[in-house]
Amino acid sequence: MAALIELKDVTKEFNGQVVLRGIDLVIEPNEFVTLLGPSGCGKTTTLRIIGGFIEASEGEVIFDGKDMNLIPVHKRPTNTVFQRYALFPHLDVFENVAFGLRVKDKNIEQKKVINKIKTDFSKQENELKNKFRQAKLEFKSLGLPKNELREKELQLKNDLIKELNALKEINESKIMEIKQTFINNKDFEQLIKNKVTKYLKMVGLEGFENRAVHQLSGGQQQRVAIARALINEPKVLLLDEPLAALDLKLRQEMQYELKELQRSAGITFIFVTHDQEEALTMSDKIVVMNHGEIQQVGSPEDIYNEPINTFVAKFIGESNIIPGIMKDDYLVSFDNKDYKCVDYGFAKNQKVDVVIRPEDIDIVEVGKGLLTGEVDSVAFKGVHYEIDVITKDRIYTIHTTDYSALGSKVDITFNPEDIHVMEES
Ligand code: ATP
Repeated sequence: MAALIELKDVTKEFNGQVVLRGIDLVIEPNEFVTLLGPSGCGKTTTLRIIGGFIEASEGEVIFDGKDMNLIPVHKRPTNTVFQRYALFPHLDVFENVAFGLRVKDKNIEQKKVINKIKTDFSKQENELKNKFRQAKLEFKSLGLPKNELREKELQLKNDLIKELNALKEINESKIMEIKQTFINNKDFEQLIKNKVTKYLKMVGLEGFENRAVHQLSGGQQQRVAIARALINEPKVLLLDEPLAALDLKLRQEMQYELKELQRSAGITFIFVTHDQEEALTMSDKIVVMNHGEIQQVGSPEDIYNEPINTFVAKFIGESNIIPGIMKDDYLVSFDNKDYKCVDYGFAKNQKVDVVIRPEDIDIVEVGKGLLTGEVDSVAFKGVHYEIDVITKDRIYTIHTTDYSALGSKVDITFNPEDIHVMEES
């Protein structure tokens, strides 16, 4: 699939301080892409560069194959939903959503075509005039008698006027035809009504048209902000932590709704968050960032199951991270014991980090596992227990639905494919 947006080696400096470096990113049409990372890692700056609110210091931003560096915000195929909804308090829900359509010239598309016809006409006019001047010079160079020359020039001038008039007539009739398609105020109101209704329905706010903004909950206000952005029918919706101000339950509801909305509207969403669960729930593609650089790009499953380094492993979910040595392909050693694994391609005896996810470790009877230890803490987390088991070398955090009593002796075990080996950080 051809890329919709490409960032190529994008760098951003603020007052000599580099906050983004070497950002290469490809975004496909209809993708839900999330920029994820800790506070200050450059997510919002990346989003603002895509939206055209700020310029990259270096590098290219390409939309549909076209360089966007000098294209202003309002001419980009993007719309933005900010963390604070920025609704107009004096307008009701209907007018907040309709706003984007009202500020646009209702006949903008037709006017663009008319302007093109006018520019083409003046180009053709200039070409004809140049041809006339050229022909006049050629006659002069023939050394004809004065009378004959004047007659020829007159003829030439008449021909030019005729041609110009014919051209003008064609263009004027084209323009008239287009003007007849201009939308009148009554039809425009109907069009606005249809679109506002469509997008309010899409965000689940049908029937809220006449409500004042202060009569809405935070979640409803955010939905209005989203409908207001969608009504402009952008190719790309940029969302900067749009759910941050909502309480947990509402946020989770909105996460599913946003994903559904993105699917049904068939547009690309670029979503900024520092919440890894939010990113995992909604995204087709997650871009994990740290210190102004992309750490890893992949599907939620890739990022979760195959983190590229310990930063990603730690940032996306909890992990047991253990220093180890890669003895050979498929054989890693940590805490003075060798384990089979599925990783390969490291140098012999290379120092590595070993990541084992808490839910990939099982607690079993003593004698039936790989390591023996004692239950050091037990916490009920709603769906699972979080249990820390202390072995002779370290504490392993385990997520399991089976209860183990505090202080009991247990073994722990894990499979070769649950051991993720990565370069030492
Ligand atoms: P958060 O999750 O806290 O919003 P973020 O990942 O979105 O963080 P950015 O807002 O992109 O991070 O900021 C990246 C870095 O750039 C930060 O160190 C920030 O202080 C700096 N920065 C952002 N905007 C400006 C600015 N206009 N002038 C100077 N520095 C800026």
